[in-house]
Amino acid sequence: MVQRERIADHVYIFRSGLYAQVNAGLVVTREGCILIDTLPFPQETKEILRFVRQRLRSQVRYIILTHSHADHVYGAYLFPEADVIGHLLSRELMIRQTRPALAAARQRNAALAEVHLRLPTLLTEREATVRLGGFTLIMRHSPGHAPDVINVYVKEEKVLFASDTVMPIPYFINGNIDNLRRSLRALKQIVPVEDLVQGHGEVLLRGEVQSALDAQLEYLDKVENAVREVYESGGGKAELNAIDIEACGVSRIALGGLAPQLHRANIYFLFGQMKRSNEQKAKSLPKKQAV
Ligand SMILES: [Zn+2]
Repeated sequence: MVQRERIADHVYIFRSGLYAQVNAGLVVTREGCILIDTLPFPQETKEILRFVRQRLRSQVRYIILTHSHADHVYGAYLFPEADVIGHLLSRELMIRQTRPALAAARQRNAALAEVHLRLPTLLTEREATVRLGGFTLIMRHSPGHAPDVINVYVKEEKVLFASDTVMPIPYFINGNIDNLRRSLRALKQIVPVEDLVQGHGEVLLRGEVQSALDAQLEYLDKVENAVREVYESGGGKAELNAIDIEACGVSRIALGGLAPQLHRANIYFLFGQMKRSNEQKAKSLPKKQAV
């Protein structure tokens, strides 16, 4: 059920069949492997483990966690021999949010009973580099989807792991749409890229990378404008629900049909933000004109 794909001589990806097409990446070097994120369920990450041990007769030396969200980090405990790398903020968010959420999820879902979090101990902020077995992995902060996202560029293979900065539909709940814009523009500057691995869904190939990034930026503009229009005209739920995903440039069947749900969440998140920031402004207005 895990889909494995060799996207470059020394790079594999593994895609979850159980949850939202999450991608994990594997860079294979003569000195061991570097795993970029894990898959949501133990049975899926165990397929990566078997592949590394039995097929490659290797081991994972480093795990890079691209952000603190559950669907990307739950499998790290299966590689106790590996050092875990992540953003400084990821460590904090995992302690504050991912860990308590996991405790609750374990109660509900027996498949997660054995999962425990491994926190990153090697921490990056703006940019950092890992070198192993002749490969160079450059990690850069890429906030927006979440404040702690990092992307990973495998220089020798020209493969860019964009994490959830790039998804079949941009998603920024509890993140920040302006930061996401900046991070998407920064991705456009990373060249050359033969393959761009999104946090979820299909790999983008060289010829489609720039236009896909432009399409993501366009979605953000369209959805934000549409929500602002509703807000400024005093509209509510009915008008928000009428903001069509395809009019914003994203297919409703994207991400295995999950896209409309994420689109709706984006809309309500933006609307809530606009409301709050306006209330804030109203509060900070001077009560009477100073003389
Ligand atoms: Zn994700």
